[in-house]
Amino acid sequence: MTLHQNLIAGEWVGGDGVANINPSDTNDVIGEYARASAEDAKAAIAAAKAAFPAWSRSGILERHAILRKTADEILARKDELGRLLSREEGKTLAEGIGETVRAGQIFDFFAGEALRLAGEVIPSVRPNIGVEITREPVGVVGIITPWNFPIAIPAWKIAPALCYGNTIVFKPAELVPGCSWAIVDILVRAGLPKGVLNLVMGKGSVVGQTMLDSPDVQAITFTGSTGTGKRVALASVEHNRKYQLEMGGKNPFVVLDDADLNVAVEAAVNSAFFSTGQRCTASSRVIVTEGIHDRFVQAMGERMKGLVIDDALKAGTHIGPVVDQSQLNQDTDYIAIGKQEGAKLAFGGELLKRDTPGFYLQPALFTEATNQMRISQEEIFGPVASVIRVKDYDEALAVANDTPFGLSSGIATTSLKHATHFKRNAEAGMVMVNLPTAGVDFHVPFGGRKGSSHGSREQGRYAAEFYTTVKTAYTLA
Ligand code: ADP
Repeated sequence: MTLHQNLIAGEWVGGDGVANINPSDTNDVIGEYARASAEDAKAAIAAAKAAFPAWSRSGILERHAILRKTADEILARKDELGRLLSREEGKTLAEGIGETVRAGQIFDFFAGEALRLAGEVIPSVRPNIGVEITREPVGVVGIITPWNFPIAIPAWKIAPALCYGNTIVFKPAELVPGCSWAIVDILVRAGLPKGVLNLVMGKGSVVGQTMLDSPDVQAITFTGSTGTGKRVALASVEHNRKYQLEMGGKNPFVVLDDADLNVAVEAAVNSAFFSTGQRCTASSRVIVTEGIHDRFVQAMGERMKGLVIDDALKAGTHIGPVVDQSQLNQDTDYIAIGKQEGAKLAFGGELLKRDTPGFYLQPALFTEATNQMRISQEEIFGPVASVIRVKDYDEALAVANDTPFGLSSGIATTSLKHATHFKRNAEAGMVMVNLPTAGVDFHVPFGGRKGSSHGSREQGRYAAEFYTTVKTAYTLA
């Protein structure tokens, strides 16, 4: 089996190989991927540092062309790359292809942004002086990504970093190196100069930690767990570097008495269980007012019976497997905790056997949950959701906001008054009305508040805040 190597200073370099395993069929080895050492990570940082002066002054047409070519190739290969994604992560083929298209669109968007770099020229408050405000690249950017969006998250960090003239050390999640390797391969063939983008696949505690500890990494963008996010923050403060964190969520989805029942059920099922519930924007707290509660729970149960849980690559599968054994253990542990806490397991939660050995779990719905329970406060990151019954809208909003997290909040209602009030008062970075909490556009800001996120927003034009630094220049006329 060919070893997919790391890329350092423009050269593909070896290392120990680690097998990339398909969670739908653990007998299926997707490929061998090199595991970088701390020395490799240091060499990658040095290469990115050396490449920065030239790349930061590269022409916008060169950046545009490389990003554009990358977008074109990703989109042309969407079926193949989407399949690779589903094979290594376990989301369905439709979701894998959809995510791949999104990655292509992100590169396309930032190809355009490269041609739209602009500053401001304004008069000084003093006579005969001009003031120019420009944006410059930050330097070497460390990119650390999680396993749940193997192509979209690397794309939404790599594309803006390159667009604005930064160089990169990129460490993907160990579980899903395939899509990251593919993106880097495409970018290199699209003409990226040596050292501008360095790929170091491997362990967080080794490769990631080396990036955190390096004074030569000027910015780190991280998506992953709250615990690792804190480490990134502390190390970044130590080095006085810029950092951006996207971490957990415990997103609420409110269903009011006046909701359209079908809209509410479809959005709740999508929010809680699609992509196997493994999205930071997934909703695991469904907060339902008492007038619609019983009808809603009944309809959810019916809808959940129709879900097909099977091999991610099989036609007709709605929900693929959980990503690996340790995540599956976490999910089943929380199901046991929910029962111990006194919530009622109304549907699902059992392990499933399929034709191939994989991590199959029937999506679980708890009812009679309270917001104080651990299953309502802690991120589970699997297909497990609980219904919390409330009296009215005011209580629903209070419960929705009673969480340490603040990424995405959803509501199902036909009331303009309540929708408007919720949009203003939900303590979250993103609010969804009659839509699932997950599923966002690629050209607008993404991110949260409270314990979910730190730093400026990702995606769209707001990405410039992180990947550039502002310069103010004064000139005497
Ligand atoms: P998850 O639970 O989703 O795997 P993690 O925070 O453990 O979340 O992982 C997200 C990313 O952070 C992965 O690429 C992982 O390898 C990396 N990572 C883990 N530990 C560290 C660390 N000490 N320093 C830097 N990166 C790390």
